[in-house]
Amino acid sequence: MHLVNGRYATLDLSSGEVQEHELQDDYTRSSFGVMATIDAAVASAGGAGFALASGILTGSLVPASCAGFIRIPHSESNPTRMCPLTGFMGVELKLTGFDFVVITGKASGDGYVWIRDGIIEFVASPEIHKCDSWERTDKIRSDQGDRKIQVVAGGPWGDHGLAASQLTMNYWGGEDRVGAAAELGRMGLSAVAFRGMGELELLDPEEHLARSLALMRSQIALLGPNDGLASFSEAAGRDDFRGLLHRNISCYACPFPCRSYYKLYEDAKVMTFDNKEPGYLVYDVPSVERMASLRMDAREIVEALKRCARYGAEPMAVVSALPADETGVDMTELDAVLISNGPAEPWSGSSSGGFSESFDDSSDYETCLALGLCPRYWARAGFNRDSVCSVAEPALGMKLDMG
Ligand code: SF4
Repeated sequence: MHLVNGRYATLDLSSGEVQEHELQDDYTRSSFGVMATIDAAVASAGGAGFALASGILTGSLVPASCAGFIRIPHSESNPTRMCPLTGFMGVELKLTGFDFVVITGKASGDGYVWIRDGIIEFVASPEIHKCDSWERTDKIRSDQGDRKIQVVAGGPWGDHGLAASQLTMNYWGGEDRVGAAAELGRMGLSAVAFRGMGELELLDPEEHLARSLALMRSQIALLGPNDGLASFSEAAGRDDFRGLLHRNISCYACPFPCRSYYKLYEDAKVMTFDNKEPGYLVYDVPSVERMASLRMDAREIVEALKRCARYGAEPMAVVSALPADETGVDMTELDAVLISNGPAEPWSGSSSGGFSESFDDSSDYETCLALGLCPRYWARAGFNRDSVCSVAEPALGMKLDMG
């Protein structure tokens, strides 16, 4: 099989049992087949759990082929929920040697799941439960001795099973609008960590490269100049945001970066590697727009996003729980909401979908994720199925069916 590993793993947290499974040769034939295979795997593993997956084209040369995803198949009480994994997470996950992993059951003690080199295991860590999400990432990277480990972390809100919780991806928030953090909390899981050191085989790399570059060039010409987060958020174009901007960062294979890195307490224009302030990477467009509408300035917004990420709290739910007045938001009150575990339900206002909102055809969101393509990029560039097939098929060595 090309571009995929051809296998997945299941881990039952209750028993600690791990099983590996081969995938059918036609796994990469269709985008909807990927989701059907994952759902069947979760069902046969007991049903109450989730899958952490990369897409068919994740790690290829197709523009913005960075994405992985978490999928929580439907249950009696909930519809299917998904959140993307952006940055380098999808690629790292695929290079672990598994196309997806299914995690079910409930851990009997505190700890995290650790995936690498074709191995998946639960690592007991009695102290990790006391850490916020940033500290969980730091601790796992320190304990395993690798700064490049990718960490999907719950935080205090996820531990409490709050529907308004949000997963933190390494240190940043913005992908999880579906309460996936609460799912980890329900399973007694503090985080899932992974590191990919494997390789992928392509059938015809030269042809795949040539077609990918041609497609990327045509898309860049249509997309026009890039302005980082401000290309997607009106508020981020304001002078107060520009004054804090350190740099714009793209995910794997994305020619149109939407992730802007802001510094709050150091000169944002100084580029050195020995600065003490970590700064914060912002790509949560709906939360920025929502906070700007509450008269928060750039410094308050970035600081609020940072604090929410540490607690694993969905930012729009947090600010919706604050008293509204004419003078903006009091950060002491924001801290009080975070400490008190905030509202039981997520904010139900408009524009809460983040990455899932921009398509005319809502099924394109799920198709993009099944393929491993960033929904935000492809919604902006125009999701043309024929173009994707033309670029993908030399790498896959088979026809790709997207329904
Ligand atoms: S559009 Fe943004 S989130 Fe999507 S791949 Fe590009 S940088 Fe990443």
